[in-house]
Amino acid sequence: MYDLIIVGSGPAGLTASIYASCYHMKHLVIGGVLGGQMQLAPDILNFPGFNNISGKELTMKMAEQVKTRGGEIVVDSVVKINHIAAGPAAPAEVGLTFLRTSQNRPPAGGLKAGGSAQKASLPAGSWSINGFEIETMEGKKYQTKAIILATGTERRKLNVPGEIEYTGRGVHYCATCEKFDYAGKVCAVIGGANSAVQAAVELAQAASKVYIIYRGTQLRGDPIWLEQVDKNPNIEVIYNSAVTEIVGDGEKITGLKLKSTGVGPTESAEVGLTFLRTSRPDLIGTQGGGSAQKASLPADSSSSITNKNLSLDKVFIEIGGVPGTALVIPLGVKMDQGGYIEVNERLATNVHGIFAAGDLVSYGLSIEQISSAVGLGARAAASAFTFIKQEKAPTVWGGSQIRR
Ligand SMILES: Cc1cc2nc3c(=O)[nH]c(=O)nc-3n(C[C@H](O)[C@H](O)[C@H](O)COP(=O)(O)OP(=O)(O)OC[C@H]3O[C@@H](n4cnc5c(N)ncnc54)[C@H](O)[C@@H]3O)c2cc1C
Repeated sequence: MYDLIIVGSGPAGLTASIYASCYHMKHLVIGGVLGGQMQLAPDILNFPGFNNISGKELTMKMAEQVKTRGGEIVVDSVVKINHIAAGPAAPAEVGLTFLRTSQNRPPAGGLKAGGSAQKASLPAGSWSINGFEIETMEGKKYQTKAIILATGTERRKLNVPGEIEYTGRGVHYCATCEKFDYAGKVCAVIGGANSAVQAAVELAQAASKVYIIYRGTQLRGDPIWLEQVDKNPNIEVIYNSAVTEIVGDGEKITGLKLKSTGVGPTESAEVGLTFLRTSRPDLIGTQGGGSAQKASLPADSSSSITNKNLSLDKVFIEIGGVPGTALVIPLGVKMDQGGYIEVNERLATNVHGIFAAGDLVSYGLSIEQISSAVGLGARAAASAFTFIKQEKAPTVWGGSQIRR
């Protein structure tokens, strides 16, 4: 039996493994895609120690470090996690100790409000002194005392007509992974956060025009990327707009239908071969502020869109992810209202022995970046170690004894 199995080989899972090795825990990483979302990042400009590194290179460096430290990575997908049958269920304390340090956090599983160092009791049946059995897609079974779930997020779908029909035929979910010849092409990126902004910048290196279509009034990317959007004449941002349909000719996409998400009356417009037929150019663009944005549109861009007939060759849906929590729902692991895993400060879930790390944890603990995934991976490994040992942990560099 393993001390720890880490499910997910993105930056959170790989870091958890490096720490687990330092703690001399017998452990395994099981992950579908080595590097997870990180390996899709074209240029990582914000990971300490590297001015600029590609996601693939950083993945290889982390994986190498995992192996050097003695960790093992199995490329496979976990399909089921079961409790190993234990004796009669008994109320138990969750993880280690749920320390309440912040008044404004929502209560974690079973926590009572107030108090400074409360312990939460578990619902009957969720305590398993015998650990867990993990089954994989390749039919392997592994037993472990503790689990760190680091399964990240899956691409969110728009759920509009045409999306499924044209997936792979002009509808794509990762601009940086699909290597097409974009020269002279017109593309649209749906979304307003970092991944959308980065995708637009990347596409605009070759495409003749890139639209960023965003529901809100201001892009939410990091300033370093927004500056590049601002500077690039091939990128145009269409604010306050949601896609209602992806249209095509039966073979491939030809355009998008948009509607305003603004406060005024909703009107529809088509972006694509026949472009915006709207009598209200304000529906697209500067609604809600105007000049202070741009990432707001260039002054004349609303009218130029209205009057042009453009073809749209590709659309990239970059609207974030849905947390990959399906595996642990049957075990009774609690989620927050957004569907993210509820954890305490030590990243323990409400189920004894299950910890979570990376983009899938809640409470604003993650900023859905590699650096936060790495930090959470380290924290989760330290918590799992204490859970296994139930004693004081040495520091990773040896010597002093501190409680983690
Ligand atoms: C295009 C793009 C560009 C980005 N650019 C940057 C950037 O410049 N800087 C930055 O800091 N962040 C960037 N990010 C975000 C960053 O990649 C993520 O925040 C980070 O990878 C999250 O790490 P994670 O370990 O939580 O999850 P992920 O990286 O999502 O990894 C999840 C892992 O879990 C595995 N998994 C899922 N389900 C199972 C299962 N059932 N069984 C086994 N394994 C499973 C996956 O295969 C994967 O290995 C970018 C993301 C994208 C998509």
